[in-house]
Amino acid sequence: MTASGEVSLDFLGTGGGRFVMTSQRRRTAGIRLTQGDTRVHLDPGPGALVFSNWAGLSPRELNGLIITHCHPDHYTDAEVFIEAMTDGTRAKQGVLAGTKSVLRGADGIGPCISGYHQGLLRDLIEMYEGTRFSVGDLDFTATEARHSDPYSVGLRVSSSQGGIGYTSDTGSFPGLADSYTGLRLLVLCTMWPRGNPINIHLNTDEALRVLEESRPKACILTHFGMRMLNAGPEGEAAYLQKETGIPVVAARDGMKAHISDVITLQGPRKTDEPMTIDV
Ligand SMILES: [Zn+2]
Ligand SMILES: [Zn+2]
Repeated sequence: MTASGEVSLDFLGTGGGRFVMTSQRRRTAGIRLTQGDTRVHLDPGPGALVFSNWAGLSPRELNGLIITHCHPDHYTDAEVFIEAMTDGTRAKQGVLAGTKSVLRGADGIGPCISGYHQGLLRDLIEMYEGTRFSVGDLDFTATEARHSDPYSVGLRVSSSQGGIGYTSDTGSFPGLADSYTGLRLLVLCTMWPRGNPINIHLNTDEALRVLEESRPKACILTHFGMRMLNAGPEGEAAYLQKETGIPVVAARDGMKAHISDVITLQGPRKTDEPMTIDV
């Protein structure tokens, strides 16, 4: 349980892209976002069901599900989550926010959630850049992303502990950082390490530009591809921290970030020493 007002992010999965997803070198289970009694799952890829339950975060408690684009590392467990959220299909409740590609299909991809499952929910929200919506006490704004699903979005969350950004999958473009200014915490999906040009995703060099321009109080890197895992995300995070002066941490599967007066990172193992970022 999270104390009222405190916000937490559970990094149930920190992997991204086809090869990490299909090998499960890192999990692809997405992120659980909690504020008091409001519980939202972001991008439930393969493993989301298993690792949510494994972490004691039952999907039956979810109020909302957000799917930022129609790629399987972001959506595969969504229909099972909808059955969980709706008391096994018996109660019409819960919010699903998804892009046009996720909900209706577009440009030859999707939809990725059946009409039957969409009909079980109380509210459906079709997200485009600038779409604002609420789930419980949390307010969201969909942000611009440029990715191979042309309807992809990122997110900006207004929480009781300040703004939280989530880039989701995007390539670099002029103005990307403008969506993420003034944040307490930016969750930056950084697929590849320095010196590895990549289309439609960010590498560490591009993440550096985003951080320099957006200047969040703290940053957590996630959604790592194979090259990033081979290079070592911790070293990339240390480089970004040194270059920007902003605290930057590489997420690990099962890590929890508690956001209150400070940001405390815990786990994944019980023996791991908590790390506090005083921002
Ligand atoms: Zn992805
Ligand atoms: Zn993607």
